[in-house]
Amino acid sequence: MSEHFDLIAIGGGSGGLSVAERAARYGARCAVVESGRLGGTCVNVGCVPKKVMWYGAELAHALHDAADYGFDLDMRGFDWGALVRKREAYISGINTWYHTYLEDSEVTEIPGRARFVDANTLDVDGRLIRADHIVVSVGGRPLIPDVPGAELGMDSDGFFALEERPQRVAVIGAGYIAVELAGVLNALGSQVSLYLRKETFLRSFDAMLRDTLMEQMLADGVNVLPRTAITGLKKTEGGIGLDCEQGECGGEFDAVIWAIGRVPNTDDLNLDAAGVIQDGEGFIPVDGFQNTNVPGIYAIGDVTGGPALTPVAIAAGRRLADRLFGNQPERHLSYENIPTIVFSHPPIGTVGLTEDEARETHGEAVKVYTTRFTGMYHAMTERKVMTAMKLITVGVKEKVVGAHIIGPGADEMLQGFAVAIRMGATKRDLDDTVALHPTSAEELVTMK
Ligand code: FAD
Ligand code: NDP
Repeated sequence: MSEHFDLIAIGGGSGGLSVAERAARYGARCAVVESGRLGGTCVNVGCVPKKVMWYGAELAHALHDAADYGFDLDMRGFDWGALVRKREAYISGINTWYHTYLEDSEVTEIPGRARFVDANTLDVDGRLIRADHIVVSVGGRPLIPDVPGAELGMDSDGFFALEERPQRVAVIGAGYIAVELAGVLNALGSQVSLYLRKETFLRSFDAMLRDTLMEQMLADGVNVLPRTAITGLKKTEGGIGLDCEQGECGGEFDAVIWAIGRVPNTDDLNLDAAGVIQDGEGFIPVDGFQNTNVPGIYAIGDVTGGPALTPVAIAAGRRLADRLFGNQPERHLSYENIPTIVFSHPPIGTVGLTEDEARETHGEAVKVYTTRFTGMYHAMTERKVMTAMKLITVGVKEKVVGAHIIGPGADEMLQGFAVAIRMGATKRDLDDTVALHPTSAEELVTMK
């Protein structure tokens, strides 16, 4: 005998928890199947532990600046292990809270690993469960390349498991995770080498953002090695060595971190039994309503290959539940103008088109406003951190189609501007908004 639900979410991460909780609010009988810890990547090995480490790193920078504000501090060191233990206790609290949250939401929690038996049936470690609607929200895992000695390196999950701070670290990769982990480790006292296989990092971001961040990371002492593709890792007398296309890359490291992208957790789902199509990399293609090619089976979050961000998975899940059970047949997530933050030092906040994308689409109609300055906080400090901002506008009305910010506080500045851009704000709307003084954000409404 199998149990029957209205909706089952496979995966209790950002997407799965959201769709089930929202559907249950409409009275649907829901279950979440989770093979690991509730909360998924974001809570356990993503956003949450990363942000804690980022706060620690920001504090390290602030402590460095403190003398410039007149403080006479006696620094006796930094206890990586203590921070990690506290961080993990915090995360355990969130895991526990999620059990109660599911219970309170009347969502059935089913621990175990799900695989499809047919389009309406799942096998969870021998237990058969059925549903009219199945949401695949299984997320992804770090990609490890197929090169000799790759296993000598760790991935971002391994980074979060570190109980001690490694002294000499090589970070390989050029995306969010490479930049963020390199920044954290550098601020907390490791010697960091960042290996890029191409000329620069964050290549899909506006050039102003990556150029400014590159300048700052170099100034902060990160050893950035462009055009250095790693072909293998090897044991050396005192650590780990790297081979690259040019031969020996030099250097010996206590830890090597692969941060070269993520792959979807679809390999053991037996999607063929349900007839669900995957792309060449294992991601599940969906239409604008999160429908897969099989009626009644949906995919949300990282597994779709769309923007791999927690709020995207949550928003897609909630809208899907609204559509299926909330009598809102047209409800779906618009993937336009999704804001995102890179928790680098300083952070990056960005939404909308980059300048290159805007010029490609809108040609001569594009007008760009930029500013670059040292914020007042750093007027007092020896260590300087630049702030840079760019607004991309289009047409005679100068509709804002992109906003790009790097600098202290950029992470907290962007949300409101993302709302304005979504509502179709023009440059005039920004100019007509009274500034907040003295802040860095005020530059966004006073740019000429
Ligand atoms: P996940 O959260 O990965 O959840 C999937 C769940 O499914 C997992 O718990 C997994 O155990 C479970 N599962 C898999 N297969 C099965 C199966 N067969 N049966 C049962 N359960 C299964 N995003 C941000 O917005 N901001 C950030 O600052 C940020 N920082 C990040 C930092 C790092 C280091 C990483 C790796 C990611 C970060 N992200 C961040 C991305 C964010 O974590 C993901 O976009 C988000 O977690 C995706 O949610 P999801 O529901 O699609 O998948
Ligand atoms: P990303 O996709 O962001 O970046 C990986 C990059 O690494 C590639 O774009 C590529 O850049 C480079 N790369 C790929 N293969 C190799 C290789 N063999 N050797 C060297 N470099 C290589 O992946 P991440 O792992 O950084 O993060 C995964 C996703 O998680 C992100 O895209 C993001 O959506 C999410 N995330 C979000 C965060 C946030 O919101 N703050 C933080 C962390 C993750 P190139 O082609 O330029 O070499």
